[in-house]
Amino acid sequence: MPLTISALGEGLHEALVPQFDKRVMVLELGDGLAVPQAPGDTWTGEALVDAMSEAFPTRSVRWVVPTHHHSDSMSAVRAFVAASAL
Ligand SMILES: [Zn+2]
Repeated sequence: MPLTISALGEGLHEALVPQFDKRVMVLELGDGLAVPQAPGDTWTGEALVDAMSEAFPTRSVRWVVPTHHHSDSMSAVRAFVAASAL
């Protein structure tokens, strides 16, 4: 299922992850993109990386910053690492 990314403000967006009833902030930082949480699972993470790449074709998915060790924060990290995010 494609994920929806909507603008909240300049350089700040949110991605809706309805399968897990979560919202993920997407930040534009320089020529890259960052997400402060990676909830869901690997497949959700891959869908989010794809949605970010499609929504921001000139920016790379560069940073994933899980804030704590729960699944709501880091269970989709693998997809971001596979996309070369740090
Ligand atoms: Zn948590």
